[in-house]
Amino acid sequence: MAYEAVIGLECHIQLRTRSKMFCDCPVEFGAAPNSNVCPVCLGLPGALPKTNRAAIDAALRLGLALGCAVRAESVFARKNYFYPDMPKNYQITQYDRPLCVGGALPLSLDGVTREIALTRIHAEEDTGKSFHPERHGDRRVSRVDFNRAGVPLLELVTEPVLREPAECAAFLTALRRLVRWLDISDGDMEKGQLRCDANVSIRPAGSSGFGVKTELKNLNSIKGVEKGLTAEIARQAGVLAAGGRIEQATLLYDADHDRLAVMRSKEYAHDYRYFPDPDLPALEVDEAWRESARAALPELPWARAARVAERYGVPAYDAAVLCDQRDLADYYEECAAGADGKLASNWLMTEMLRVLKERGWPLAEWRGRVPAGRLRAFLAKVAAKELPGPLAKQVFAWMVDEPGAVEELLARHGVRAQGSADELRPLVRQVIEENPGPVTQYLGGRTATLGFLVGQVMKKSGGQAVPQAVKELLEAELAGRAISGS
Ligand code: ADP
Ligand code: ZN
Ligand code: MG
Repeated sequence: MAYEAVIGLECHIQLRTRSKMFCDCPVEFGAAPNSNVCPVCLGLPGALPKTNRAAIDAALRLGLALGCAVRAESVFARKNYFYPDMPKNYQITQYDRPLCVGGALPLSLDGVTREIALTRIHAEEDTGKSFHPERHGDRRVSRVDFNRAGVPLLELVTEPVLREPAECAAFLTALRRLVRWLDISDGDMEKGQLRCDANVSIRPAGSSGFGVKTELKNLNSIKGVEKGLTAEIARQAGVLAAGGRIEQATLLYDADHDRLAVMRSKEYAHDYRYFPDPDLPALEVDEAWRESARAALPELPWARAARVAERYGVPAYDAAVLCDQRDLADYYEECAAGADGKLASNWLMTEMLRVLKERGWPLAEWRGRVPAGRLRAFLAKVAAKELPGPLAKQVFAWMVDEPGAVEELLARHGVRAQGSADELRPLVRQVIEENPGPVTQYLGGRTATLGFLVGQVMKKSGGQAVPQAVKELLEAELAGRAISGS
């Protein structure tokens, strides 16, 4: 029997705020272990949490960007469980009254756009981090760092509407782009700033019921999510094919060995005994707050990609690449203003992105060297055919490492692009005089001979002539001869 997968994702987004979710401790990575802690995030008796407004602002930005409904009054709850990296033995989160409800993330995959429906987005705090086991003298020890305990997190939950592992990878890529675009998180999965648990079940293809799901944890890269889901879907299909039943379970995926291991089965499912946190008042987001967060939203990536495609006449593929990051889209629009949009997109996508990749530069480094105005001046010369193809690439390469206008770069390297008719005409005439045979062939209708004549002029110019200009001049001169000779 053919099966189809049903997948729902639970994503955690670590917010890049200055302080923690419920106290004033700084959010800072690489600080000495257990240095960014206080009575509140350590859960000492008598300490009182207070909600970080900047974190809620970030949550509102994400929720509104995704078209969620914002609850005017949401509630923080305690999720109770014992774990050594959680000093309070409960985590402050939101449960039955989360901040944001519904909404959808638009996704383009293989040219098809789908809206992935969301269940909710809620605000919560992160746990600490444990390191184990390590050897200490003769003993094996585990250590715990509470610096991360209390760092603001958003949890975003999708409806069970994803169907393919590749679609989940596209979802996470789009979510990562969005949180960076909104400037609320660095969204790096390898660094744990974006985390994902994947819930998956299978069912006979085309049916509408739901099968028993398993949950994959420990997925720390987008590729890992895709591979882990692929392995788990295959495992479930194998169990059913052998006449077995899927048991509800939480699995760990080991991406290095492409292996799944059961972490806990249903019998040990947690009962978190959620209840409203008595130390925190309900979180009230009035219309003024909500609307000011909405007004602060930048143009969203999918809307911007559509506008860029339309306004600059570039294919949807180019627009998607250029709108992968906000600063890249900004730079492109500055370069394309008043220029040939497709020409600008070609140079950015092929040449610039290649250099950034090779040198591992952020865009800011590039912009410092090649500000938009400088690139526009270069593109104008390329568009006017003043720089022949290979020379344009050479000039572009010089621009990356050297200051100066195009003319200065050419002069510094002893190269002169000969493009003017006055410079080229004597060479063109000389070549016509020296090659009566090919000229006669050309005039007799063998137009392919023109390429040979262009080559001769290029040779005489020491490679510094602009081929397009040479070609046009040759055609004009030869047309004159055809008329006078007839
Ligand atoms: P739980 O109570 O086990 O946490 P939830 O109902 O909260 O389950 O859903 C958690 C995630 O699992 C959501 O992303 C949801 O879309 C997804 N999900 C729920 N049921 C299924 C299913 N049968 N198959 C796949 N995913 C599912
Ligand atoms: Zn603290
Ligand atoms: Mg749940």
